[in-house]
Amino acid sequence: MLRVDDIHKRYGDNEVLKGISLTLERGATKVLIGPSGSGKSTLLRCINHLNKPDRGTIELDGQRITDANIDRMRAQIGFVFQDFNLFSHLTVLDNVRICQLKVKRLSHEEATRRAHEELERVGLGDKAGAYPAELSGGQQQRVSIARALAMDPMLMLFDEPTSALDPELTGEVVKVMQQLADDGMTMLVVSHEMGFARQAADEIIFMEGGYIIEQGPPDVLFSTPAQERTRAFLNVIA
Ligand code: ADP
Ligand code: MG
Repeated sequence: MLRVDDIHKRYGDNEVLKGISLTLERGATKVLIGPSGSGKSTLLRCINHLNKPDRGTIELDGQRITDANIDRMRAQIGFVFQDFNLFSHLTVLDNVRICQLKVKRLSHEEATRRAHEELERVGLGDKAGAYPAELSGGQQQRVSIARALAMDPMLMLFDEPTSALDPELTGEVVKVMQQLADDGMTMLVVSHEMGFARQAADEIIFMEGGYIIEQGPPDVLFSTPAQERTRAFLNVIA
């Protein structure tokens, strides 16, 4: 579904991605871990060209993402950010509907139907009329997941979706992500929620210093990492 090939990205003198390649099969979930500053967010942003890679290619469902097709390709990629990025002046329903109306140009009726469907799926069927400020952080993040899902994406990217949340609110968001993974969504998730990583991930990818150091199934990578640097990182976050 996703093929990332030899992505390089630098900011001035700082080479942040030094040749990243990975693949994500349809229906697979991979969890990306690594120290702060290792390039995880930059990688996700390069995948949907929010940041333009200096070198390398991204293919989604066999089609290379280019400047010419970026709007169409980006509409197929759901992106969930750490800080929710909801419009505070819009209701939950309008937050979920807006991209379907503006980008997908669905009818009002169809967009409304899809929005209610996805709000039900994340357990917020009763919050359609609320404003973001009336919701907890966990609820706001679930709205932002519903908003992404309502676009029928081929791929979902999550960048530390629970790290802005109080610990007691992470569980409800992790549960929604776990359900999505179980339902066969194709997902690339930056997260240090080890319970989620163990349960949901087909593979863990450990990044450091702009390189992929090691990747493998969670039971292997967590219990017997091959690289000393992976072991050192796991000791810090465990
Ligand atoms: P991570 O998500 O793993 O913490 P990031 O991808 O956010 O890492 O950042 C990797 C490096 O790139 C850091 O050194 C950061 O300062 C730098 N960086 C990220 N975005 C920018 C930017 N827009 N301009 C300059 N430097 C950036
Ligand atoms: Mg980051």
